[in-house]
Amino acid sequence: MGLTRRDFLYGIGGVTSSFVTRKAFGATKSFSPHENSVGVLHDITRCIGCRKCEDACHQVNHLPDPKLSFSDLSVLNTVRRTHSDVYTVVNRFEVNGQSVFVKKQCNHCLEPACASACFVKAFKKEITGPVIYKESLCVGCRYCMIACPFNIPAYEYHNPFSPKVTKCTLCSDRLNQGLLPGCVDICPKEALVFGTRQHLINIARQRIDEHPERYIDHIYGEHEMGGTSWLYISGVKFSDIGMREDLGTISAPALTAGPLSAVPIVVGLWPVLLTGMYAISKRKEKIAEAEKAEAVKKAQRIMQEQMETKIAEVKSKSEKEKEAAIQKAVKQAVAGAEKKFQSEKSEIEEAKS
Ligand code: SF4
Ligand code: SF4
Ligand code: SF4
Repeated sequence: MGLTRRDFLYGIGGVTSSFVTRKAFGATKSFSPHENSVGVLHDITRCIGCRKCEDACHQVNHLPDPKLSFSDLSVLNTVRRTHSDVYTVVNRFEVNGQSVFVKKQCNHCLEPACASACFVKAFKKEITGPVIYKESLCVGCRYCMIACPFNIPAYEYHNPFSPKVTKCTLCSDRLNQGLLPGCVDICPKEALVFGTRQHLINIARQRIDEHPERYIDHIYGEHEMGGTSWLYISGVKFSDIGMREDLGTISAPALTAGPLSAVPIVVGLWPVLLTGMYAISKRKEKIAEAEKAEAVKKAQRIMQEQMETKIAEVKSKSEKEKEAAIQKAVKQAVAGAEKKFQSEKSEIEEAKS
């Protein structure tokens, strides 16, 4: 369930009073991951595009089965993105006559734009690494989707009652149980390595230094958008395999911390709050519409039953009236015949006398 309007308005009171004399909402730079926070290194040169990681992700997250099985590699003919039932995809790119396979999912940014844009704080960067989403706080405004520079969060448009935003969780539940992320655990080529972010950077640097002929000299995610918990090394330019190289190294919250920090609350925050209220009322409208449709159906059912009863009553009444009319006619005919008989009888008797 989302926040109720009352809870939300109550929240607005708290939020506005705490910000009104301070800065615009997006101006805070409040994420400071733990130095031992974890992540995953994707060595793109090792990936063979087998999609076993996609399969494992579906299993561990209990996602619905896709139309085509994970062993069907024809899906690699199209570049795909994550959506509400798919938290990770592997895409194939043809570069210099070679197939290059790249896994894509939430990068668990160190200072996430999604969390920065979310005014009810439904997204949170854990100090251990994962960026976590709390469905109970989400009002469905979808600012996170607009804010994410990697085009990751997806929305359950097919779910009319309690749609939520979905994305890779970095398998935080499994991590809490001491297990590896599902995709890392299954990868047959060790194209995915789990560890502390700093350790992963060291591994990546070592591989690049030892094999300059195999890798380009760039650890993607080390600095992009202030750094991410998922890191990538590759043998080809990242821009050739669908990864943005135009993002710069400044995080989203830091980007808005300068000039935006002087913007008054009424300009910076109210449009966001109003949109949130609009989102809540839209959700309510959706529920109201569904209830209305159900009420109309019920009314139609009752009307139908009433009509059928009425028709049966009219039918039975008309049959009774028809029968009464026949009986009356018969009675009249009998009476007429009797009268005629009596009159003829009198005439005969008169004639005899
Ligand atoms: S399981 Fe490993 S090798 Fe297979 S597609 Fe995923 S990342 Fe690549
Ligand atoms: S990749 Fe997008 S959804 Fe994931 S943490 Fe970064 S901004 Fe948020
Ligand atoms: S870390 Fe977990 S949720 Fe994320 S892509 Fe891997 S299996 Fe899926």
